[in-house]
Amino acid sequence: MVKSIIAHPEKCTGCKLCEVACALYHHGEVNPLLAYIQVYRKGVTVDLPLACTQGVDCGENFCMEVCPTGSITRDPSGVVVINKETCIGCRICYQRCPMKVIQMIDGKAYKCDLCGGDPQCVKVCTAGAIEFAEADQEEIKRTKELMKEVV
Ligand code: SF4
Ligand code: SF4
Repeated sequence: MVKSIIAHPEKCTGCKLCEVACALYHHGEVNPLLAYIQVYRKGVTVDLPLACTQGVDCGENFCMEVCPTGSITRDPSGVVVINKETCIGCRICYQRCPMKVIQMIDGKAYKCDLCGGDPQCVKVCTAGAIEFAEADQEEIKRTKELMKEVV
């Protein structure tokens, strides 16, 4: 199974440093609106950091199947990638993603690309609330249950 960003919500403090690190790495700006990981909050008790798990959590290839230009593919290492050259910004992948982890930025679709195998969000999370690892079935189930409450 491909490694991806695995959330441990019980450890998340909601500091949003992961969002900042992601935006800075990919867009050179300290702007959480440009991040491919989003921290969702429910009340004062639950923070859920969510990024694309490369098809592990959704269990489907929704985005790849619906893209009318074939711009979303899985690379040889298993990472789901978006070709910015051919993306026409139709927003279909953004609307259909059941995990809500695709962002539309300046008319193009973006998602977690695992920073070339060295995820910056994981490096800055001192709480250990996000991990670069293979998900097990229990973690997948738990994330889906939490998503129903916060996304
Ligand atoms: S950096 Fe870690 S603790 Fe802070 S919001 Fe992100 S996942 Fe949560
Ligand atoms: S926004 Fe881009 S990547 Fe997403 S479905 Fe449309 S063309 Fe494909």
